[in-house]
Amino acid sequence: MIPYGRQSVDEGDIEAVVDVLRSAFLTQGQTVPAFERAVAERCEAAEGVAVSSGTAALHLACMALDIGPGDVVWTSPLTFVASANCALYCGADIDFVDIEATTGNLCPQRLAVKLESAADQGRLPKAIILVHYAGRPADRGTIAALADEYGVALIEDAAHALGAIDLLGPVGDGRTARFTTFSFHPVKIVTTGEGGLLTTNDPAIAARLRRLRSHGVEREPSALKVSKPGDWYYEQHELGFNYRMTDIQAALGLSQLSRLAAFVERRRELAERYREKLHKLPVGLPPADSDSRSAWHLYVIQVRERARVFSALREQGIGVQVHYMPVHLHPYYQQRFSFREGDFPVAERFYEQAISLPLYPDLSDEEQDLVVNTLERLL
Ligand SMILES: *Cc1c(COP(=O)(O)O)cnc(C)c1O
Repeated sequence: MIPYGRQSVDEGDIEAVVDVLRSAFLTQGQTVPAFERAVAERCEAAEGVAVSSGTAALHLACMALDIGPGDVVWTSPLTFVASANCALYCGADIDFVDIEATTGNLCPQRLAVKLESAADQGRLPKAIILVHYAGRPADRGTIAALADEYGVALIEDAAHALGAIDLLGPVGDGRTARFTTFSFHPVKIVTTGEGGLLTTNDPAIAARLRRLRSHGVEREPSALKVSKPGDWYYEQHELGFNYRMTDIQAALGLSQLSRLAAFVERRRELAERYREKLHKLPVGLPPADSDSRSAWHLYVIQVRERARVFSALREQGIGVQVHYMPVHLHPYYQQRFSFREGDFPVAERFYEQAISLPLYPDLSDEEQDLVVNTLERLL
């Protein structure tokens, strides 16, 4: 089976992990800070805070904005459930803003309309979580300006978009969002097994995120409530979690990061090959790169008769997937918030026709040709 996505781990990656296994620190050593600095530098952000998953990163971003009961958070319906769940962890409510049919990203015009009416009703969200769907930068400049105008905080969920860039700069640079979150799950752009990271340009907030990822415990002498009576001493200042990344994971991440440019380049090349080979078929294709350059996490085509084409591809050994069933259609969200089919029609239509074709750096041209030929026969 050719999967829709998978990690690329080479000998250098393996050696980096083994080196940490032979060292004194498997966690809370120097490799995590080195990985944090390397990602922050790559994103042109001041700070990086590594955590145990992309979901943990989103949860801490919401906590650091003091999102809680009575607040509302908005995100895109066309995303992985984690982009919405993080608000619920904090006791907040969730709502969605429909997408653009072309890119799958949150639609700035719909956002403007929804913000205006929410302001009229005194029900503005506390934060917007902007997802860079499939690795293509959303219109973060316009959306950040809107969020600013209404005093709403912006979090960017860049789980798909490490290595993506637009006219403002690299995704994660903190020019538009208070926090940008990344995921290092094996299907994402670079992997640490499980893992996540937040970038921010605010050192005070980064310090709070580091405290929250480790139980809310403060060890920095200048931040303690009393003067430190001895080296054993620390204080818990708020309720945090154990959301730490290990040094084993960070070593893999650091080694993977040195391959990031090559990963994104190969993904882009494969995306261009798909475009050349599929553009004459009766399928909708994702727009090519223009002013912004996607990290090409996913290659999502639109087909009629999705169910038939999907199962036929699977039967032929092509491990396609669907990204995503809109979050508001999940039973949990329908029961808890009474969302209904029809609430976000553009995302629903996108979902009904979507198929993610295999796309990952180690996918060979021959394997890709097999995907293309199989698809051609089925249509
Ligand atoms: C993968 C993903 C997450 C969650 O990341 P994990 O590391 O799996 O917790 C969040 N948002 C989006 C859009 C994702 O694709």
